[in-house]
This record gives sequence, structure tokens and C-alpha cells, in this order.
Amino acid sequence: MKTSLSHTTLDDLSKQATLAAERSYSPYSEFKVGAALLLTNGKVVTGTNVENVSYGLTICAERSALVRAVSEFGPSIRIAAVAVANLNETASPPCGACRQMLGEFAGPDVPVIFPAAVGTSAVHFDELLPFGFDMTLKKRPLGN
Ligand code: ZN
Repeated sequence: MKTSLSHTTLDDLSKQATLAAERSYSPYSEFKVGAALLLTNGKVVTGTNVENVSYGLTICAERSALVRAVSEFGPSIRIAAVAVANLNETASPPCGACRQMLGEFAGPDVPVIFPAAVGTSAVHFDELLPFGFDMTLKKRPLGN
């Protein structure tokens, strides 16, 4: 994956995601996830998963970070990089809901780093969500 961001920057972002995972509220699954968003304004915003006894109301670390980023810096934020980490030593790419939410603020070339089945994966955002919901899709002719 090519990116203009340095390996050190992405490593640091992963470390911040890991620190966020340590603050996870996950008494039901014990799956402790953290996310760190590097914004184009240079700020890093982290989030962690927050579970709920009803399960369905649980919010993932990625959306938690995103909501926090908009709350802190406003609606014009843009994401420069995403890192996801967990303390369970298992794969955890962003789920579908988080991909769609992140896609509102992340361009196709934004690097996304997450724990894979083996090691860490680093992909561009458009590889994670090639057909995200977008109002412009309805303009595309069928079959293209
Ligand atoms: Zn998610």
C-alpha cells in the first residue's frame, strides 16, 4: 500500500489505537477494541468500543472515534489515516457499519491499518468499501 504518511506515523497511530482499546467498556464480549483517526488537521482522535447490555446498542471503536472527532472539530473534518487495534490478538477489520460511517469523511486513498488473521493489514479505504452507499451511485448506468 502506497501512502504519503510515514511508517512511524502509522505505527504511532496503531499504538494510540491500542491505548484506546485499554479503555474499552466490553463486559459482555470482553473484546477490547480501539481506533485512532489521524485527521487532516494533524489531530489524532481515539475511540473505543462501548457495549450495552442490550448488545444491539453497542458502538464500535471506529464510530466512537468518529463521533468524537466531529464533536471536537466540527463537520468539516477529513480523515487522513485510520488505525484499529484490539487486545484480544484476533483479526478486527472495521465492520460494515463503521466502513460506511468512515467513508463519509475518508477519501479512497486513506490508509487503514487493522489486525488481520496473520499480522497487520494496511489497505486503502476504497479496498475496504468499494461500493459504499453514495447518492451518486444512482447516476451510474446498470452494468457499469
Ligand atoms: Zn464497527
